[in-house]
Amino acid sequence: MNYVDCILAETAAKNPNQPEFIQAVTEVLDSLRPVIDAEPQYEKNNLLARLVEPERSIIFRVPWVDDKGNVQVNKGYRVQFNSAIGPYKGGLRFHPSVNLSVIKFLGFEQIFKNSLSGMPIGGGKGGSDFEPKGKSDREVMAFCQSFITELYKYIGAYTDVPAGDIGVGAREIGYMYGQYKRITGRYEGVLTGKGLTYGGSLVRKQATGYGLVYLCREMIEAKGHSFEGAKVAVSGSGNVALYAIEKAIQLGATVVTASDSNGWIYEKDGVDFEYLKDLKEVKRGRLFEYAEDHPSCVYSTTGRVWSVKCDIALPCATQNELHEDDARALIANGCYAVAEGANMPSTPEAVELLQKAGLLFAPGKAANAGGVSTSALEMTQNSQRLSWSAEEVDEKLHSIMVNIYKSISEAAEAYGMKDNFVVGANIAGFKKVADAMLAQGIV
Ligand code: NDP
Repeated sequence: MNYVDCILAETAAKNPNQPEFIQAVTEVLDSLRPVIDAEPQYEKNNLLARLVEPERSIIFRVPWVDDKGNVQVNKGYRVQFNSAIGPYKGGLRFHPSVNLSVIKFLGFEQIFKNSLSGMPIGGGKGGSDFEPKGKSDREVMAFCQSFITELYKYIGAYTDVPAGDIGVGAREIGYMYGQYKRITGRYEGVLTGKGLTYGGSLVRKQATGYGLVYLCREMIEAKGHSFEGAKVAVSGSGNVALYAIEKAIQLGATVVTASDSNGWIYEKDGVDFEYLKDLKEVKRGRLFEYAEDHPSCVYSTTGRVWSVKCDIALPCATQNELHEDDARALIANGCYAVAEGANMPSTPEAVELLQKAGLLFAPGKAANAGGVSTSALEMTQNSQRLSWSAEEVDEKLHSIMVNIYKSISEAAEAYGMKDNFVVGANIAGFKKVADAMLAQGIV
């Protein structure tokens, strides 16, 4: 058995019941085969076995009291995956689907994404099976305070800097930051995605969605396409989806869909962005309410957004939300590009179909790296004790995304896989981390 197959078999045996983690490792290691074959130092130092094992996984109890006075208990996680090129960095996800497999898959992906960003940040991820939806502000605060009362021991501006993810936005980051400061007495950049009045960065909120569209624009323009006049299908209606929608509209596209976990909307002439943003960010409402106020819109609780006709698809909700049949529908409807705003939203079978059909495909670890890149810019501003203007941050974000596109397309071409951005992203992200690991010895 060759080296990559050995590591894949070993990883599957050592991590039973972790399907999302195994899926992510398989996808990455499969595409690294040409590098592993060409550069024997990686096998000689058993680098892959070290890469797939987190440096540290912390699992803890999170007790809190709900509004009825009942004691609730959730599980908390932080996986500190790899610190070869910088302090651990990656979001916290609060969602009932969170388990060790999901956090490890996200942490593993984060290593390569952070490397691609060009910023000095390692990979980590964390979260809880807590569901913030439907909870009062006081309940969310009680949970966040309890969560950080345990996690604060393991994080810090120079060790591990968590951020938001699904279910963790400005409100949750604020409560966690307040509790961290209260316990430690330190005012430092320990979390990113902070509010603007206490160390947050302008454009951080918009960064993942904007960055997604910036990278997608590079990819499609290289083939003579444009957002101007394009029809775009987006899934999700959270942080990433909202700002991908805004940027695509700014570039002249018509965004025809959005979704949440109850259903999805189809707006033939384009979604009403300002209404959607207010509904989701301020009112914390549901998409059926959008439909009630927009007779032009078709609201559906069955099927998925990928069945509508579009030129560009931007999956921005969650993992494994674009399946083989969805890929077939996109191909049949003439879609020419898919760029992943979410982490691993497309199943491996769907990716294979899309690539075989000749669609341009940008994987999440490259396409959604704008969020973590801007988080790293927030860290820089915090350590310099200053804040940059929105224009400055947006300009830096834009050039980071242009550079990511350049490095993934060059890496793909260098290994004879031109325009295969999955391979390009994995190889470009891997080499920097792997070489840093080799230089630092067996640690
Ligand atoms: P949010 O919580 O703000 O939004 C998530 C959206 O996806 C909501 O519309 C939510 O609907 C929907 N959704 C979540 N889980 C499911 C599910 N199981 N089934 C159907 N719909 C679902 O999260 P973000 O926008 O921050 O994150 C979205 C994706 O982007 C995730 O994969 C995340 O890891 C990734 N990402 C986020 C970054 C960031 O900066 N925020 C950075 C890089 C990647 P509902 O409200 O009904 O739950």
